[in-house]
Amino acid sequence: MTRPKIIAGNWKMNLDHIEGAALARAVRDRLSGPARPCEVVLIPPFTSLEAVAGAIEGSPLRIGAQDLWYEPSGAFTGEISASMLAALGCRYVLIGHSERRHVIGEDGTLLSRKLRAALAGGLFPIYCVGELLEDREAGNADGVVERQLREGLGGLEPGDAGRVVIAYEPVWAIGTGRNATPEDAGAMHQAIRRLLADLFGEPAAGAAVILYGGSVKPDNARDLLSREGIDGALVGGASLDPGSFAAIVSAL
Ligand code: PEP
Repeated sequence: MTRPKIIAGNWKMNLDHIEGAALARAVRDRLSGPARPCEVVLIPPFTSLEAVAGAIEGSPLRIGAQDLWYEPSGAFTGEISASMLAALGCRYVLIGHSERRHVIGEDGTLLSRKLRAALAGGLFPIYCVGELLEDREAGNADGVVERQLREGLGGLEPGDAGRVVIAYEPVWAIGTGRNATPEDAGAMHQAIRRLLADLFGEPAAGAAVILYGGSVKPDNARDLLSREGIDGALVGGASLDPGSFAAIVSAL
């Protein structure tokens, strides 16, 4: 089955809007030329979304946000709604990044609400799942990822589930320089697809876009991205360097 491919760059809490626009222009320039066989998404901090959107206007690049709040509006100081993101041109939004789960403390109930709010707001959620090192060492990586998927996606209609991009990001591989082997990543992607088939049926599972994230760099991208079932990458650190990010895009 041919699925869309996505390479997304999560800039995390880096770069102000001026620096962000400069990085976006540099990425756009490096990726100009023949059309790429994938969607390339820049995910800057909220404060840079508008400047980055301006910098990539007219190019095939897309923007996404790093988070949202699940209510449409109201007394939620400091929060941002799906419609605000859509109005800025966001197509994607990260939900449940490991730093939101493990540093900020977001739980499955909250993430499921955010995911539904993203869908209701017309965005494509990139729902991040992944085990801690202790889970993997205890042989429980599959169990943790299954629980996170059931918490986030359980109860969705297959049509809605089909709009959710999954990012498998083992927590021990994020920002550590230590990536999962292509074999381990590929096995987890297969396990995720099997669970999606149980929850939503084979057609939805076959169509689901599942990304790998965790220390993807130019020198390991091709091995990871050529694995059957890995439909692209969510890139952190390497997305802050236009040359590295463009090299990862070119590895697809
Ligand atoms: C991430 O932030 O989602 C990520 C995968 O980071 P890094 O590529 O730096 O490991």
